Amino acid sequence: MRIAIVGAGLLGVASAYYLSKEGHEVLVVDRQSAPARETSFANASLLTPNHSFSWAGPRAPWLLLKSLWRADSGLRLKPHLNRQLLDWGLRFLRNCTSARHRANSLAKARLCFYSMAELERVARETGIGWHRGTQGVLYLFRDRHELELADQQLALLRGAGADIAPVSRDEVVALEPALAHARDRFVGALHATSDEVGDARRFTEALAEVCKTRGVTFRLATSIDGFEVQADRVAALKTSSGAIKADAFVLAAGSYSPQLAKQAGLHLPIYPVKGYSITAPVGDPERAPRTGGLDEGTLVTFARLGDRVRMSSVAEVVGYDSTHRPENFAKIVATGRELFRDGVVFERAEYWACLRPATPDGPPIIGPSPVRNLWLNTGHGYLGWTMCCGSARVLADHMAGRKPELDTHLYRYGRY
Ligand SMILES: Cc1cc2nc3c(=O)[nH]c(=O)nc-3n(C[C@H](O)[C@H](O)[C@H](O)COP(=O)(O)OP(=O)(O)OC[C@H]3O[C@@H](n4cnc5c(N)ncnc54)[C@H](O)[C@@H]3O)c2cc1C
Repeated sequence: MRIAIVGAGLLGVASAYYLSKEGHEVLVVDRQSAPARETSFANASLLTPNHSFSWAGPRAPWLLLKSLWRADSGLRLKPHLNRQLLDWGLRFLRNCTSARHRANSLAKARLCFYSMAELERVARETGIGWHRGTQGVLYLFRDRHELELADQQLALLRGAGADIAPVSRDEVVALEPALAHARDRFVGALHATSDEVGDARRFTEALAEVCKTRGVTFRLATSIDGFEVQADRVAALKTSSGAIKADAFVLAAGSYSPQLAKQAGLHLPIYPVKGYSITAPVGDPERAPRTGGLDEGTLVTFARLGDRVRMSSVAEVVGYDSTHRPENFAKIVATGRELFRDGVVFERAEYWACLRPATPDGPPIIGPSPVRNLWLNTGHGYLGWTMCCGSARVLADHMAGRKPELDTHLYRYGRY
């Protein structure tokens, strides 16, 4: 079968890999000149199945409301209104009950754990590298009550296999010696031993190269304007360089999936949630992080990627705006200096911002759509790196007519 995939981010390239293994003729189309040039470019670099909670939960409406007057909040709503946001926001609020939060978080956790096993399989099959760090991830707390609360909430994910336990300050320093001087800032941490660190862009680029050796074609620098639909099927992609015909199509266009899906008569409630990151060289290696973590007090993450450090923060509901200004990074840099001093050369940091494709309930949308030959693999929100290989495997199973190993009901189109 000839399959055209829309999008060469983590999800599009992972889909291409799994579908090419099935013997299909695969073409990946993207407007950028290389794979992973949008949301998959410089994300926080954490693979966190043990911390895969859904954002929509009982505390979320209050946090969003509070963010209207607290500019330093990690989760921010900037006043703007459009039909897409209104529709997404109402669905988000509906998913904020305890029962839905539990169900959605479990759905995400199952996919995340499944995906980590698939990532391991991809590593074995391809031998590619991505600055993988397998020493776990630390969730650092500055407040004892918050630490105890988080530990209690994790009972839910532990039921789904989460491997995360409280550790003392001394244990934090043993796991991450760079934090020795900052040990008194924290009351302790939760340590997720099977969470990982890794560079999503490097992974996507390397996997794209493997795909090419398997016969996958990449048509880059090609904008897709929409789908040409005939009866209940997509006949072709309408692109800046003409129509592209195929037997089946996969939509993996991240935050831009709803606009394209609409042209095929589909409604995808995905809204962009903006985030920021910096990438800076390691300075004094003794003071640079060895692994990955999240400072729960400032909501700033850190991850060691070879001779660089990635730090990231903020979930901002601000619409389709991925621009950034130096002041957007002030909190990331301040936390970085507090934790790692001259372990990171902040003066040489590269700045980046992009949009997480978030569904209102949390889990992504994977599988068939009402348009017979249009398949979906999109809406992975803040966990697209963690979930990419598992999602691609589920998609490939669906397309082959096999029953996926996971309960795919939880990721189906139209569920929210
Ligand atoms: C700040 C930040 C931190 C994050 N941290 C983490 C993390 O630590 N761990 C984790 O698991 N996840 C993380 N994520 C989420 C993860 O990066 C995303 O879920 C993932 O990158 C989404 O991949 P994607 O392939 O769906 O989208 P993208 O990578 O955006 O790919 C979509 C592709 O579609 C193409 N496209 C779109 N529209 C068109 C069109 N009309 N024509 C042609 N091409 C088109 C784009 O060019 C793009 O290449 C983070 C995200 C952000 C923003």
